[in-house]
Amino acid sequence: MLTIENIEVTYHHTLQALRGLSLEVPDGRIVTLLGTNGAGKTTTLKAASNLLGLENGQIGDGRIVFDGKSTAGIAPDILVRRGMVHIREGRHIFTEMSVHDNLVAASYALKGSGRKADYDKVYAFFPRLKERRDQIAGYLSGGEQQMLAFGRAMIAQPRLILMDEPSLGLAPKIVEEIFATIRRLNSEDGASILLVEQNAAIAFSVADYGYIMESGQIVLEGPVEKLKDDPDIRSFYLGVG
Ligand code: ATP
Repeated sequence: MLTIENIEVTYHHTLQALRGLSLEVPDGRIVTLLGTNGAGKTTTLKAASNLLGLENGQIGDGRIVFDGKSTAGIAPDILVRRGMVHIREGRHIFTEMSVHDNLVAASYALKGSGRKADYDKVYAFFPRLKERRDQIAGYLSGGEQQMLAFGRAMIAQPRLILMDEPSLGLAPKIVEEIFATIRRLNSEDGASILLVEQNAAIAFSVADYGYIMESGQIVLEGPVEKLKDDPDIRSFYLGVG
């Protein structure tokens, strides 16, 4: 579904954020990308969805292939139309607009594709959003705003969702609910997921495969069942052992 091969990324032509990073998200899988602050996780997602240009970031060497085609030079909105949706850190919903209007705004991603926005499907998936359909999105709780961000992604009918720290700032009970939703997006809606997280324990509870990055490079990878037993992962990321 997504292959990132050996990419180098710099910001402002000087600061090197990624150094020959490679990773793969196979069709139908949930893959997690973990790492310390500043390791380059968000940069990796932005490289995949071609959002680096907005921040004076450039991909140098390497290539990114989504659904069999190179993403080089493809505008972010075209990638959305092709089925790649990036849910950025901080959720990026329209806080002044109603829940429903947020979903309507997301439907522009389908313009020209011949596909129609399926609001009923989103509301069936998120009954809480249905109850709050006419409420101003800024007044939703943090967990509900994250669900709205997922709902907006679902409207675009993605085959690949890039998620940047969906647990950030949420209470543990809400995090569990959000992660149950991530599982459903994968199992019921069929979306492949690349999940960036700080919370390794919760990321491992949904992911099949994990990559650990440091200073712009992958330093360890493997099936989650194996990573869970790695002594370094246990002490640095899971706080046990
Ligand atoms: P965090 O977990 O703190 O969000 P991260 O692993 O997502 O960190 P990135 O945000 O990708 O890390 O940052 C990687 C490196 O690139 C850092 O050194 C950061 O300071 C730098 N960087 C990120 N965005 C920019 C930008 N827009 N301009 C310049 N440097 C940037």
